[in-house]
Amino acid sequence: MPTDGPSVGVPLIDHHCHGVVPRNLDRRAFEALMSESYRPAPEGASQFDKPLGLLVRRHCAPLLDLAPFPSGAAYVERRGDLGAEEVNRRFLGACGLDSLLIDTGHRGDSIANVPEMAALGGRPAHEVVRIEAVAEQVARGGASAAEFPQAFADELARRARTAVALKTIVAYRATFAIDQTPPDRREVARGADRWYGANMAAGRVRLDDVDVVRHGLWAGAELCRDLGLPLQIHVGFGDPDIYMHACDPTHFTDYLRAMEEWRVPCTLLHNYPFQREAAWLAEVFQNVYYDVGVILNFAGPQAASIMGEALEMGPFFKQLYSSDAFGLSELHYLGQLQFRRTLKRHLDRWIADGDCNLAEADRIVAMIATGNSNRIYTLR
Ligand SMILES: [Zn+2]
Repeated sequence: MPTDGPSVGVPLIDHHCHGVVPRNLDRRAFEALMSESYRPAPEGASQFDKPLGLLVRRHCAPLLDLAPFPSGAAYVERRGDLGAEEVNRRFLGACGLDSLLIDTGHRGDSIANVPEMAALGGRPAHEVVRIEAVAEQVARGGASAAEFPQAFADELARRARTAVALKTIVAYRATFAIDQTPPDRREVARGADRWYGANMAAGRVRLDDVDVVRHGLWAGAELCRDLGLPLQIHVGFGDPDIYMHACDPTHFTDYLRAMEEWRVPCTLLHNYPFQREAAWLAEVFQNVYYDVGVILNFAGPQAASIMGEALEMGPFFKQLYSSDAFGLSELHYLGQLQFRRTLKRHLDRWIADGDCNLAEADRIVAMIATGNSNRIYTLR
């Protein structure tokens, strides 16, 4: 990282990420974690042959003592020789983080937990509790459909006591184009019956009933209001179980407005391809924050244009840093690298054009790197 220009090398709060896989990965498992698809690349093709793959081979290889641009096979082989723990320590230790906020609600049994991530990275780590995952745990734990609404509310309240934020994946499970008012008791009871009837009987617990999801949204919102926690909201790019057009966050305006009334900070995560809509929402609502985490990795050499759109309108006091890394410590490492590089690219130009100076650029970096997260999350 060049030392001239704005101080983009400052420590970052990664306000939304996940744990790394603590065991060795073969080529197929490694490539699966480079993709948001449930399916592998077609026969004869490789996930290394896309923008993210280029970044891994160029910028991660040297941390494993390889020259830039090894083949995918050579990269994964070297990773295996070093061992997962050494690899994870190298990448997480090189991130230059202040602290990590970790969403534990996705495949939590196959990845490092919060204390393990703190130990691997040598930095403080805090838990973000995913609302829909708690609902599924309660259902899996044996609560009946009739018991579910209260059992879920109690368990979410218990988990929230040690969390720094809650998170919802309503976008995956119901889209944003839904009734955003709180459901009444009868709607929740009927929703739990439908969910249990359709899924549990078939051995599935995946929560996708819209009224149960709404119940989670509002139970979570009450806890956030009462405990002073932000609510993280998944937006746009992510797993394939999504109808992208209905995950434009402007569909969720009524809920965001209600949360503004309740003074609950809402952090819109990832946002691609809706980073402009997210920045606009952050401009008009006092409580809305946003990041462009994860997509800076997936866009590789093209990431600067996405950061550019995120900077078009969003107030500097509203953007946050996240990697949204899952599974591979390479993604934690590349997330911070891409964030620093793309932010610097734009600030350098603003300075060259005479619209900004070094002192102002440093203030902007400090707000996005840690200042805004420190304002909304209670991390110490
Ligand atoms: Zn995530």
